Amino acid sequence: MLQRKAQCHCAALTVLCEGDPTFVAMCHCQACQRRTGSAFNLGAWYAAQHVVISGETHIFQRTGEEGMQLSYHFCPACGANVYWLASSMEGFYGIAVGAFADPDFPPPTLSLYEEYRAKWVKVPEGIPCSMTTLSGINPKHHK
Ligand SMILES: [Zn+2]
Ligand SMILES: [Zn+2]
Repeated sequence: MLQRKAQCHCAALTVLCEGDPTFVAMCHCQACQRRTGSAFNLGAWYAAQHVVISGETHIFQRTGEEGMQLSYHFCPACGANVYWLASSMEGFYGIAVGAFADPDFPPPTLSLYEEYRAKWVKVPEGIPCSMTTLSGINPKHHK
């Protein structure tokens, strides 16, 4: 089975993922811009049984739209946010695609919060786009 490893900046926190992600989402929302320090977040979602985490984390929690509870796990040593959980995606982990640092990582399959997308960012052709969150798109059934 194909395995890929995500790790934080200092490598103390690692996440081993089996197989391909269920989906890969670009999120252009302002919270993700601030969280990542980048133009958008790129997150790969894996079912929990395909994820093995090692290393300590600190957690930042916030409430998203529609009351969604989000918890972001980051390395206490280097501060890199490697993975997160969302109450709307029970049984799944969102993993920062950048943490894999893999040019062959599967491309995005969804684009969220398009209304905040930086004008120069091009979304891969033909993928579902939402102006807000996952409404209208069921990522669990999307491949
Ligand atoms: Zn670290
Ligand atoms: Zn976002």
